[in-house]
Amino acid sequence: STFAEIDLGEVLNRNIQRCRYVKPTPVQRYAIPISLAGRDLMACAQTGSGKTAAFCFPIISEIMRSSPPLKNGRNQGGRLACPQALILSPTRELSCQIHDEAKKFSYQTGVRVGVVYGGAPAFLQLRNLEKGVDILVATPGRLMDLIERARISLQKVNYLVLDEADRMLDMGFEPQIRKIVEQMDMPPPGTRQTMLFSATFPHGIQRLASDFLKNYIFLTV
Ligand code: AMP
Repeated sequence: STFAEIDLGEVLNRNIQRCRYVKPTPVQRYAIPISLAGRDLMACAQTGSGKTAAFCFPIISEIMRSSPPLKNGRNQGGRLACPQALILSPTRELSCQIHDEAKKFSYQTGVRVGVVYGGAPAFLQLRNLEKGVDILVATPGRLMDLIERARISLQKVNYLVLDEADRMLDMGFEPQIRKIVEQMDMPPPGTRQTMLFSATFPHGIQRLASDFLKNYIFLTV
């Protein structure tokens, strides 16, 4: 199978070619159609499996489809960032890596990507969000901090990804993650789609899956 057979749109397909991805990896082959169908997903996938593209492609494609840059549905930027998609990851390194890849994938799509993480000044990160952000990559601690400082709102998030969820639990981020998800569950009740990626599937992850995912598909690759 090829990427062209999955209906991601012309611009995104061109970016995929530019990245020299020819064939979808197994996690991409299964996760992309599941996500495009709007289903929640629990995916057991290792680093190196191609999971970043597996969750970025459908999100970029859906944001382009639902709110083309010329329509007025998009957030306009300003001091309060209101992303449509949130990708949570355990570390600064992984967040920056996801951000770099997502930027390549979203080239010329009009979809704007941003990143916030701890251990570095927040003001530079915030400045980059002021033109507007559609997809936000974040570590849980810094994100919670910026929500409390009223610089980021999760009210418009339709897509939530928890990447390397087992590592986030190992690092003690569960309370922050639960607070973050609570923010999104405030009224009006949304039609949020959630995708949980984890290398392992211990009890803690099973609990997150049953608390955060609705009628989900379980995928192991
Ligand atoms: P990830 O598991 O998302 O960290 O991806 C691991 C590496 O595989 C990254 O360097 C990606 O750029 C690369 N990659 C992801 N998907 C594909 C693909 N379909 N074909 C070739 N390389 C890929």
